[in-house]
Amino acid sequence: MLLDNTKNGFTLKSDFELRKAYFLFKIISNKILSKIGKTALEVSLKLRLPILFIIKGTVFQQFCSGETLDESFNTVKKLNNKNVKSYLHYSVEGIENEDSFDLSLDEILFSIKFVAEKPILDFTVFKPTAIASTKILKKVSSNESLDKKEKMLFDKSLDRFDKICLFAYKKNVKLLVDAEESWIQDAIDEIVLSMMIKYNKEKAIVFNTSQMYRSDRLNYLKTIHLKALKNNFFPGIKLVRGAYIEKENKRAKRNNYLSPICRSKQLTDQNFNNGANFILSNLNRFSLFTGTHNEKSIYKIINIMETNNINRDDPRIWFGQLYGMSDNITFNLANEGFNVIKYLPYGPIKEVIPYLIRRADENTSVKGQTSRELHLIKTELKRRSVI
Ligand SMILES: Cc1cc2nc3c(=O)[nH]c(=O)nc-3n(C[C@H](O)[C@H](O)[C@H](O)COP(=O)(O)OP(=O)(O)OC[C@H]3O[C@@H](n4cnc5c(N)ncnc54)[C@H](O)[C@@H]3O)c2cc1C
Repeated sequence: MLLDNTKNGFTLKSDFELRKAYFLFKIISNKILSKIGKTALEVSLKLRLPILFIIKGTVFQQFCSGETLDESFNTVKKLNNKNVKSYLHYSVEGIENEDSFDLSLDEILFSIKFVAEKPILDFTVFKPTAIASTKILKKVSSNESLDKKEKMLFDKSLDRFDKICLFAYKKNVKLLVDAEESWIQDAIDEIVLSMMIKYNKEKAIVFNTSQMYRSDRLNYLKTIHLKALKNNFFPGIKLVRGAYIEKENKRAKRNNYLSPICRSKQLTDQNFNNGANFILSNLNRFSLFTGTHNEKSIYKIINIMETNNINRDDPRIWFGQLYGMSDNITFNLANEGFNVIKYLPYGPIKEVIPYLIRRADENTSVKGQTSRELHLIKTELKRRSVI
């Protein structure tokens, strides 16, 4: 099978790096060891023990591309040599206040400029809550009225959105807007829609993210399609399953409402595949950026592309994976001529620890994914005769 070739999959990893990755995934996959590791990390940071060098040589190296943009650009070049593109994200979560939002705005504008100056980069990304208050997005999403100050702050956020999208449009840089929790997402969807109407007149520049673990998202895609036809724009969609399942289900239970999440993993998978199919069947309007490590979905998408005679390198279709995960998907797809892109988080080690903990958690909870990583690494180590 196309994605099983471990020689391609681990082409950039030395024997030492591969062994280290095996060891790391082994720890992460074990719930108890992973918990001990996280607690030890939290305690060490509180006690200010000098442990950052251990993190740097292990989880940081596996899941982050560097501490600075320049350091990360070395990774970008290495990936590009293997026909894999990158998009960089300064993965430091700021506190929620106006100063921090303005700082993030500057960072995002800088990232757009950076991409525009580098011919091997096409995309950049940002999280809406980096530039807008969660509290206000939540109120807007639930149609609560805003007081005078909140209205003023919301207008400032809209202004930040517009500055970012306008700059991306002017610089011809594709812009991914991450999806967040459902209780703030309606407001984000509305804002991003207005940006797409404004800046996606010729092609998809602004991409909204659709989390297909939400049972209403196929309808969302259909609505966007109708609006695109009516308002004559080209929607960009980043299609993902969704990262906040536990939070979503817990909140729904606590507040006694029906969870927006599909009732089973199987239904999420169906919804994701149907979403991809819908977009690919309407490619005269849509651009599709898939953010998934699910091999079955990837084979399905390839199949639809073949059936619909869509070129592998069609500029409207991208396959995205996170740095440090699913390299077998990344390098095998790139080798076969598909448009492939890695999400490269970067930032000072201490600041990206929340991101690293989320990755570790995800790999502990998504058992199938980690055992697949371990199996592939082991296969490659055997192929190289180093175990
Ligand atoms: C490039 C990229 C960008 C991303 N951007 C975002 C983003 O902006 N916002 C965001 O929320 N996430 C984002 N993600 C994360 C993504 O949503 C998934 O959490 C992650 O990729 C794992 O899903 P998967 O499709 O790779 O595959 P799988 O491992 O097959 O699926 C795991 C996912 O299935 C769903 N699931 C698991 N169990 C159940 C269940 N019992 N019932 C219903 N559904 C279930 C959950 O969404 C879970 O994360 C991104 C991922 C990538 C690779």
